[in-house]
Amino acid sequence: MRLILVGPPGSGKGTQAKLLSERLRLAHISTGDILREAKRLGTPTGKKAAAYMDAGQLVPDDVVNDVIADKLRAERLERFIMDGYPRTPAQAAAFDRLLAQLGLDVQAVVLLQVPDEVIVERLKWRWSCPQCGAVYHARTRPPKVEGRCDVDGTTLVQRADDREETIRQRLKVYHQQTAELVPYYRGRGILREVQGEGDIETIYAAIVAAL
Ligand code: AMP
Repeated sequence: MRLILVGPPGSGKGTQAKLLSERLRLAHISTGDILREAKRLGTPTGKKAAAYMDAGQLVPDDVVNDVIADKLRAERLERFIMDGYPRTPAQAAAFDRLLAQLGLDVQAVVLLQVPDEVIVERLKWRWSCPQCGAVYHARTRPPKVEGRCDVDGTTLVQRADDREETIRQRLKVYHQQTAELVPYYRGRGILREVQGEGDIETIYAAIVAAL
């Protein structure tokens, strides 16, 4: 199975992609995670991406398109869930070309819908584990021990782009650029719309039902 998750920043794409990947045995491909790691390591891609990421802007299409093409080809991935890619019409077109070259197609595009104000509240309080990716909310889903991951005890971190001003900028970018993907995939009859509010397992069940 090959899936794409679309939704605003903070809509729960990462959380749901992690569950789908574990339970349906799909490779979880997150361009945000790949770019953050590249930035941390100071690779050429990381250096190109850093300023855009810190400002809440999208990294140029050709940079992310190359990252994805290299990964799918090198690892010969055939069962995957895309988390945060494609994010612009140009990326969607490039992804279609890549998949056609690889002889693959996408079965469904899941759109997670969450209102902007809910997202700002979620992300302002978001802390995550740099080791295992577990995500917490300081108010509604705090870790058992403050500042430590429940799973492996690693010190939790807050993302640099989860400041309120940057969150609002990322939402603006989503509405201006990524939302255009919705009619594109709807027109192909593969869009599945799911409400992204509520508890994690309920949303997961809604996604599986929609598939
Ligand atoms: P995310 O973790 O998906 O919220 O991504 C964090 C940041 O990485 C975004 O705000 C962008 O700067 C960059 N990024 C991730 N995926 C993409 C993409 N498909 N196209 C452009 N920039 C991206």
